[in-house]
Amino acid sequence: MRVNFKAPEYRRDTSWVWSDYEIEGSREVGWQICRDGESYLKLGPGYRLLKTNCCGICSTDLDRHYLPFPLPQVIGHEMVVSTESGERCVIEINASHAARGIESDCAFCRQGLSRHCPDRLVLGIHDLPGGFGPYVLVPEKSVLPIPDGLSTETAVLIEPFAAALNAATSITPRAGETVAVLGPRRLGLLVVAALAGLRREQASDFEILALSRHESLLSLAQELGADRGIQVVEDGKELRSGLADVVVDTTGSPSGLELALRLASREVHLKSTHGLEAVGLSHLTEFVVDELSIAGFDERRARQLVETWKEEGRGLLKIAWISHGDPPEWLCEKADVYRETRALAARKHYEESAMPGQLPRADAVVVDGLNQIDKVLRPAEGDQLALVRPRGEIWMQPSVASKTGSFSEGPLVEAVTMRGLRVSSSRCGDFQQALQLLSADKRLAGISKVLITDTFPAMKIQEAFTQARSSQCIKALVQHPDHS
Ligand SMILES: [Zn+2]
Ligand SMILES: [Zn+2]
Repeated sequence: MRVNFKAPEYRRDTSWVWSDYEIEGSREVGWQICRDGESYLKLGPGYRLLKTNCCGICSTDLDRHYLPFPLPQVIGHEMVVSTESGERCVIEINASHAARGIESDCAFCRQGLSRHCPDRLVLGIHDLPGGFGPYVLVPEKSVLPIPDGLSTETAVLIEPFAAALNAATSITPRAGETVAVLGPRRLGLLVVAALAGLRREQASDFEILALSRHESLLSLAQELGADRGIQVVEDGKELRSGLADVVVDTTGSPSGLELALRLASREVHLKSTHGLEAVGLSHLTEFVVDELSIAGFDERRARQLVETWKEEGRGLLKIAWISHGDPPEWLCEKADVYRETRALAARKHYEESAMPGQLPRADAVVVDGLNQIDKVLRPAEGDQLALVRPRGEIWMQPSVASKTGSFSEGPLVEAVTMRGLRVSSSRCGDFQQALQLLSADKRLAGISKVLITDTFPAMKIQEAFTQARSSQCIKALVQHPDHS
């Protein structure tokens, strides 16, 4: 197969340039992508070439110039495609070994962490050209047909909806609790909708609270299932500390996270990848990309995870102890504790000692300060590999933090070590689960009517981005001609 097309590329200075692309190859042999007549990318087998129907613009796209991946690139990762027979499908964007259906001994793919496969390319985010172009190469196993009753406009929301649903399920709201969504907009409104859908599905009883500066967004949140809305004035000083059990922070701003830390009493769930430094961490985006959690080190929590590991047949819990304090004796008996204060040296230890099929990472890391957290997230400047496994735990030693006077380190350390708050995060979610809930719940099936405020032809990508950045727009959609 061979196609030629023009596609818009996003540049570091936020401008656009159109380049000529040629894609040639086959599912079995692999593909060759040429850009402006020169070889651009060679791909192995396991990809299908499909036509893009439409593609949503999300905050990751709008902030793409801050992210640690090369530009220019054809971006766009929330797409509906048409197959050769005209069937509408959605695409899970992580091109891992598993998603491509190729044999490999990759421990990440084998352990159900294929969305974190270190060899993955990500459609429309890094490497693989995305859905603002008219054709995409998609990993074979990640093409999911859209159920008949579901509109294309709602289906195009599947990627952020799956991410929202993952956030809603991972915080496991308990009966009687209040879950606040801070800054509901593009993603936050979907989190509200997902929480409401989950509450209907499970017939559970927790309160959904929306917190926004904008009254119009509060009423949209209520339309999507929030019980109450509170308007935030300026930086939210007037709001009572601990007003919610859980706060899902979807503001995508450093000050939003600080507010979330103050308002939550049990957990803050972080949903944004804005690429900026926040609460003293430079690698906060990487924290979310790896779907990690930070909590105070406590015996009950550590024992629980040690037990879970054993019950699930995962063997001894691997703990990298990079804190300067001493690990308790019982922990050294029950878990595989490796002491090394330098994060990169600790990562090398796991890389060299991992058995085939085992993740070359620690399962949990114990630190005593913010600076160490950044080192855990990205021990080496040149690569994107953490010391801790995807969805792993970072525990902070409260005694050491208080001894060294680390509270000057700010609100994150204070919340985690003094108030026992947990900060969790998630990036993407399960498409199958999301499609099921969307088709089973009539109210959810109609969310696109509330959320998609603007539609542009693909030629007008630049205008679409300008509009998507404006305060009137919730979600903008880009449509390709002749493809629907
Ligand atoms: Zn997105
Ligand atoms: Zn893999």
